[in-house]
Amino acid sequence: MDSNYTVLARKYRSQDFQSLIGQDVLVKTLTTAINTSRIAHAYIFTGIRGTGKTSTARILAKALNCLSGERATATPCGVCENCRAIAAGQHIDVMEIDAASHTGVDNMRDILDAAQYRPTNGRYKVYIIDEVHMLSTSAFNALLKTLEEPPAHVIFILATTEIRKVPVTILSRCQRFDLVRVPVETLKKHFAWIASQEKIELSDAANELLARAADGSVRDGLSLLDQAIAQTGGHVDEAAVLDMLKRADRGVVVDLMDTVLGADTAAALDKVDQIYNNGADLAMLLTDMMEWTHWATRMHPALHVGDTQNSPYTADQRERIRAINSRVSLNALSRIWQVMVAAVPEMQAAGNQKQCFDMLIVRMMHIADMPQISEILKKQDAPAARPAAAKPANPAPQQRTCQITSAAQLASAMQEAREILLYSYYSSNIEVSEFSDGKIVYFDRKGDADFAPRLAAWLAAQTGHQWTLERATQSAHTATVSEQKREELESDPMIASAMNLFEGAEIISSSH
Ligand SMILES: [Zn+2]
Repeated sequence: MDSNYTVLARKYRSQDFQSLIGQDVLVKTLTTAINTSRIAHAYIFTGIRGTGKTSTARILAKALNCLSGERATATPCGVCENCRAIAAGQHIDVMEIDAASHTGVDNMRDILDAAQYRPTNGRYKVYIIDEVHMLSTSAFNALLKTLEEPPAHVIFILATTEIRKVPVTILSRCQRFDLVRVPVETLKKHFAWIASQEKIELSDAANELLARAADGSVRDGLSLLDQAIAQTGGHVDEAAVLDMLKRADRGVVVDLMDTVLGADTAAALDKVDQIYNNGADLAMLLTDMMEWTHWATRMHPALHVGDTQNSPYTADQRERIRAINSRVSLNALSRIWQVMVAAVPEMQAAGNQKQCFDMLIVRMMHIADMPQISEILKKQDAPAARPAAAKPANPAPQQRTCQITSAAQLASAMQEAREILLYSYYSSNIEVSEFSDGKIVYFDRKGDADFAPRLAAWLAAQTGHQWTLERATQSAHTATVSEQKREELESDPMIASAMNLFEGAEIISSSH
C-alpha cells in the first residue's frame, strides 16, 4: 500500500503548466510573463499542502531552462536533457532545498555563495526553497542579502504553506502566487480521468466522497484513492470509501437527524451507539450532521426557495428531508446549527468523544424542542387578543386585521407572517423607545433607508390603518428584540442549567 501511495501522486504529477489542476489564474499569469520575457528574480508560491506548489516550481524551472528554443518558454518540451534532469530532481543548476532541514545561517550562506557562479548546463541557476517559513532569522537575513542584489542568472522560487511566517522584507522582493484549494468538481474530473488511465472502477458516489474528503488538495485526494484501490482491489465504490473514511453514509445521517428532531431521546442515543459501534468517526459524523442541517435549511419551505440543485442527497433522501422540514421550524434548524458549531471545538478538546457527542445530541434535542419564541411571546401578549377569541358567537371580521401593541408582538407577528427579511432586520437593528398602536419611535442601528417605508406598508396591511414611524437620531440604548430574547432565555432556570452542562456555550439568536 505504501508503494502505491507514492505511485499515483508521483505518476500523475503535473509536468507542464497546462496539466496543473485547478490553478488557472496562476497558469495564465505565469505563462504570459514567460512568453513576454518578464521573468522575476524571485517567486513565492503559497497555498495549503498538495495544491501543486512544488510541481509548479519544477515546471517553472523547466520553463526557464528548457533547451527546445533560444530562450525561456512557457511550454517546456519535457524531453530535452534539462527538462528530464529537472523532472527527476537531478539537474545540477536546479537546487531543491528543504528549509526544514537547512534552517541554519551557515547552511544558507554556503548555498548562496555558490549562487555567484554561472550555471553549468542551464540558462539560470534556480533555487527552490520549500517550506521557506522554517528558515531561522539569520538564514532569512542571508537570503535577503542575495535577494537585494541577485546575480542576473539566479532565480529563487520559494514555497510555503504559512505565508504569514515569511518576513515582509522577503515577501516584498518576490512575485507572489496563491495556489487555491482545488474545487470538488475539478478534483472529481481529475480522479475519474486517473481511474480510467489506471483501469480502475470508481463509482461517481465514491469519487464525490474522495473529492470532498481531499478538501482542495490533489495530493491528499490521490493518497485516499490509492488507499481505496489497495483495499478494494480496484473496485472502488461508495461503501468501501465510507468504510475507509469511517464515515456514516448520508442515509444514516438523514435517519439520525430525523430521530434527533423527533422527541425520543433514548431512540436517538441508541442510533448514535449503533453508528459509533459501526466504526464511524464522530467528528466526521458531526460534520455530516452540519451538512444536513445546512441543506435542510436551504430546502426549508419558509425560505420559499426549495433549493435542492446542488444538494448531495439522493431523490429519496431529499423526500425525507422535506418530510422532516414539514414539522421542524426554521428556528429549530438555526438553533441546532449553532449548538453544533459550538460543539466542534468541544469535540476536538474532549478526552472522550463519545460522551461529548451523546451530550451534544441531548442538547440539540432540548434546544430543538424548546417552544417557539413567538409562541412564548404570543402567550405574554395574549390578553389583548383573548376577549375576541372568548366570544365565538361573533362573526369573524371580513378582513383579517390584527392589533399590534408592543415591540415584541410586532416581532412575533412578522415571524408568523414569514416576513423573514423584515423580521431579521427589525429584531437585530431596531431599538424601540416608544410603541403604541399606530406609532413607533425607534432608533435604527444600521440606518437602512428602506426599512421604514417597508415596515409602514406592512403594518398598514396587517392592521388596516396607517402608522407613524418616527426615527430617532440618537440611540436611547434600549435592547433590540434579539437582545431581549437572549436575556429572557438566559434567565430561564431550566435553560441556564442546561447551558451550564456545556461550559463556554452561548445562547444564540433564535431568529430565523
Ligand atoms: Zn525541454
